[in-house]
Amino acid sequence: MIDALEFLRGRKEFFRFLILDWKVTVVLLFQSKIKNLKFLHAVCFLKVTTDVLKDSYGRAIRDLRVSVTDRCNFRCFYCLPHGEPPSAPKEQMLTYEEIVRAVEVFVALGIEKVRLTGGEPMLRRDIETLISKLAGVGGLRDLALTTNAFNLAERAAGLKAAGLDRVTISLDSLRRDSFARMTGVDMLGRVLEGVRAAQRVGLTPVKINSVIVRGHNEEEVADMAAFAREHGVSMRFIEYMPLDSGHGWSRKQVVSGAEIRRRIEERFPLEATGGARGSDTSARYRFADGAPGEVGIIAPVTEPFCGACSRVRLTADGQIRTCLFSKVEHSLRDVLRSAASGEEVADYVRAVVLRKEPRHYINETHFEQPARTMSLIGG
Ligand code: SAM
Ligand code: SF4
Repeated sequence: MIDALEFLRGRKEFFRFLILDWKVTVVLLFQSKIKNLKFLHAVCFLKVTTDVLKDSYGRAIRDLRVSVTDRCNFRCFYCLPHGEPPSAPKEQMLTYEEIVRAVEVFVALGIEKVRLTGGEPMLRRDIETLISKLAGVGGLRDLALTTNAFNLAERAAGLKAAGLDRVTISLDSLRRDSFARMTGVDMLGRVLEGVRAAQRVGLTPVKINSVIVRGHNEEEVADMAAFAREHGVSMRFIEYMPLDSGHGWSRKQVVSGAEIRRRIEERFPLEATGGARGSDTSARYRFADGAPGEVGIIAPVTEPFCGACSRVRLTADGQIRTCLFSKVEHSLRDVLRSAASGEEVADYVRAVVLRKEPRHYINETHFEQPARTMSLIGG
């Protein structure tokens, strides 16, 4: 192994990678596509997959959510009801080069999945360029994007061509009036076109996120399950969390995961999909009659899954957040913009992950909503 690295040292295509520790070098070897080094690739891959970023509670951190912008063109009442707070100055936002460098380090430390989010990530100019750079990060197994789909119909093919694996689309109602009331925009038709386009170009499996809020869309839950069956998509129902910028969340508005399941099963019996939930945040079900599509129920308020959390988040302005509800942030941006070596950046990330909170405190009396709300964190 060491001999092999010695052999590579000084060669242009590897030079950049050898500034990091050997795990990082390994990841980038995948990009080299040098045929006669297959054995080295295999050996290294084994090492990378056994190397895991762990927090102080022993949870393996495998998923990174990267927010690429704070801006959004929708006004979902459960997220950004009163318009956007002033945008952070441009120089505080991570550049594409900085995002790629950060992702390379995270992947070298064991991150397997990266999801781009926001705000609305499709508003960041030329997101396809970032996607194509990230798609080239060796060792990254899954590159996804969460979007409100306002312009997905036109851009789905380009996203796929850039190297995006799949999309998650937010869709809270199948009724035009209710969709407009919940999101603040009259764009149901465009979003549905976006779902079809994503399927057509192979950004699959397409997942759909629907936040269920009492008095708004709980009566539609079974209709949305019918949509999943008809279109063969994974419909994920999410409990409303106290992360709205209007601070209007109340427990009375939370429709529990148990109620969501009951409402679906009144029409379509469900079967839990086999296997452990692992770090998946959703309890997953198939339709008992074998129909296509899938249901996921994400119940962070009534059935917290913090013990299995595998996530960290990077905000658009370069702050690591180890929990959606974190009270503290860690400026990876400052580290990236210092003269830190790759190994120093990696050490910083390891140290931050060790400070990941044990759980959220939504159900405890001292709970306070974090200062940053969902669109500023990256859901
Ligand atoms: N703008 C994109 C979108 O809506 O898909 C990506 C960012 S958005 C913040 C990511 C996800 O967070 C969406 O699926 C949205 O429904 C969810 N979300 C936003 N506010 C929420 C809240 N208060 N409770 C639960 N989920 C929320
Ligand atoms: Fe925008 Fe997404 Fe928040 Fe809706 S949920 S306001 S689309 S960031």
